[in-house]
Amino acid sequence: MKSKTGKDRSITQKWSRQTQMVRAGTVRSDFDEMSEALILTSGFAYDSAEEAEGRFNGEREGFVYSRQTNPTVAMFEERMALIEGADVGRATATGMAAMTASLLCQLKCGDHVIGAEALFGSNRWLLDELLPRYGIETTVVKGGDLSAWQTALRPNTKVLFCETPANPTLEMVDISALADIAHAGSARLIVDNVFATPILQSPLELGADIVCYSTTKHIDGQGRCLGGIILCDSAFDEEYLYPFYRHTGVAMSPFNAWVMLKGLETLPLRVGAMCDNAEKVAAALSAIVEDVRHPSLPAFDQKELAERQMKRGGTMVVMTLTGGRDQAFAFLNALEIFDISNNLGDSRSIATHCWSTTHKALTEETRMALGITPGLIRLSIGLEDAGDLIQDLTQALKTVQNR
Ligand SMILES: *Cc1c(COP(=O)(O)O)cnc(C)c1O
Repeated sequence: MKSKTGKDRSITQKWSRQTQMVRAGTVRSDFDEMSEALILTSGFAYDSAEEAEGRFNGEREGFVYSRQTNPTVAMFEERMALIEGADVGRATATGMAAMTASLLCQLKCGDHVIGAEALFGSNRWLLDELLPRYGIETTVVKGGDLSAWQTALRPNTKVLFCETPANPTLEMVDISALADIAHAGSARLIVDNVFATPILQSPLELGADIVCYSTTKHIDGQGRCLGGIILCDSAFDEEYLYPFYRHTGVAMSPFNAWVMLKGLETLPLRVGAMCDNAEKVAAALSAIVEDVRHPSLPAFDQKELAERQMKRGGTMVVMTLTGGRDQAFAFLNALEIFDISNNLGDSRSIATHCWSTTHKALTEETRMALGITPGLIRLSIGLEDAGDLIQDLTQALKTVQNR
């Protein structure tokens, strides 16, 4: 192996996360390139029939087919595994491919799953629609209510699934307490860590068994590529995840993995600056709008938990306008910098009306119960100047004040 690459875990494990984000997982080819090589290939050629046979039966090391593993994707997986403290990472085509695979790879007919009720719309669809179709029972509970998880636990409960902070309400779940509940039964805890990012929260260190990301969000962070990743231990990977991953074809493309590797290099800088901006925006908004949510605000209802399990409050700010849908739409239409869009974690600030877009698939009743009201606006705070962002939000609020 070449010196100064990020492949050898006896070396890379000693590095701090900041160094790992830039260098871990890197393997240089014979050309000694600085930037990670983009190995855009579906397959690999073998020097001999014996070599092909050996790689297929696992006796020889090397790549076989990019549906299973690819050198560029493997660099991204190794870097993410190091950052999260996982044995293994498996990168997927989208965030939803990661969520779906993390569930389906280990579940069968007759199993039971408990999920937090406040989830990304497609995650809720997996629990409410997809799993029951295959005879897998699901229960949703209020994420912050630990006794509700405990009560819902059954002998056949195999998975507890949560997002924290949840999209879009920022409701939090106590990861270590939930891990204890899962492990007292025979269940594994899966955490969708998209909102917190690897920078602000480490679910595996808190006791979770599996952590999933949509890397489309902060990890790319520049609105270019879709992607996801599942991180877990080797035993789970060998028994459940890898067989499912290689045979169902959920893999990430090498090109997208290369973009994600570039994204990781600047992730701590971007998330740090976005958190700075989000704190400033939340403080300014809370002086003019009654209902503003961000973990840095004194009025945040789960402040103790936020401070215990996250390093900072994150890049998302949520506010609710009292004038409902009409006022929310007028506000969005008056914005000059913020884009009306549904992505998040981007370097560009984005405003989303969750009621009519990202969470529209949920029934009106469910949306209301989750606090996703017609007046709710989710703000993903980007890397622009905080003063400009506050000015934009303030002028848009002024134009709708009297509606
Ligand atoms: C976006 C998102 C997903 C899905 O990711 P895609 O890359 O869009 O498939 C899952 N969970 C959360 C919390 C998200 O924000």
